[in-house]
Amino acid sequence: MKLLITGGAGYIGSHVVLAALEKGSKVTIFDNLSTGNKKNINKDCKFVNGSINSLSDLSSLFKKEKFDAVIHLAGKKAAGESMKNPLIYLENNIIGTINLIKSCIENGINILIFSSSASVYGEPKYLPLDEKHSLSPINYYGYTKLAIENHLKWFSDLIGFRYAALRYFNAAGYDLENRVLGLEKNPQNLIPIVMEVASLQRDALDIFGNDYKTKDGTGIRDYIHVTDLAKAHIDALDYLLKKQVSITVNLGVERGYSVLEIIEMVTKISGKKIEYNIVDRRKGDIDTIIADYSLANHLLGWVPENSNLKTIIESTWKVYA
Ligand code: UDP
Repeated sequence: MKLLITGGAGYIGSHVVLAALEKGSKVTIFDNLSTGNKKNINKDCKFVNGSINSLSDLSSLFKKEKFDAVIHLAGKKAAGESMKNPLIYLENNIIGTINLIKSCIENGINILIFSSSASVYGEPKYLPLDEKHSLSPINYYGYTKLAIENHLKWFSDLIGFRYAALRYFNAAGYDLENRVLGLEKNPQNLIPIVMEVASLQRDALDIFGNDYKTKDGTGIRDYIHVTDLAKAHIDALDYLLKKQVSITVNLGVERGYSVLEIIEMVTKISGKKIEYNIVDRRKGDIDTIIADYSLANHLLGWVPENSNLKTIIESTWKVYA
């Protein structure tokens, strides 16, 4: 199987590359290294430095190589940032992805694994969230993911383009065999920021609000180990190849931790005190998000194996310490 992995030098991408190589696939990484890390470019892959925002980069890539399927992970992933800089999200997550889908179709590739997000749901009407929940994103990041899911559905219905939309909950942790060592540049998500405080790269964490309707007032999220997340991409690809259908599934663990619980676990594992300030809520944030992953389990036989919080934090601290 010859795979193109966009964003393969990124945090999630580098873990998906490992899962694909383990399965015996030949992988080409396409990444512009804007947030990806050179250190994470797997030596067993071909690397092409290019952008999904450049039609000429895409056309020269597809002219030179043939692929059986594409795993698309090149995108921006910070909900808070998308509310401040929506144009970057329009450019990368919508225009870039449409360029890629168009290039796939024009070059006879009709299988795409797409990194979607739990933020397509918006404010939960019930928990845990299953795939039947209404879709009403409250941040622009979530909207960009929903817009692409909608385009994919049209192309699946109209011309048989097959896709798996994987709705990630909160990806966290690092490869348990220490094969991914590149840190995220300018991280926006909670765990890497707490790690930067623990490793003295940053003075303190700003906690975005402690008046949410949760047990300690801070936001609760469903943290999934990135290796479990990565494996689901390969399981989804196998499923699409076998069944000739398109699917949309949640990838989470069905339990949540608050910001303060994350700080507590990082303190316990690193032995470092985490300084923090309580600041205003961040625009587009929600109290609690927890996944029902039974559809992924039912269709793909997927189970999260490494997603307990201790493993997530220990594997991350090993990289940051
Ligand atoms: N958060 C925080 N300070 C930060 C980053 C995140 O308090 O510097 C909180 C955020 O409000 C949310 C949780 O941590 O409750 C997880 O946020 P993250 O950005 O990691 O993921 P999201 O769920 O927003 O995609």
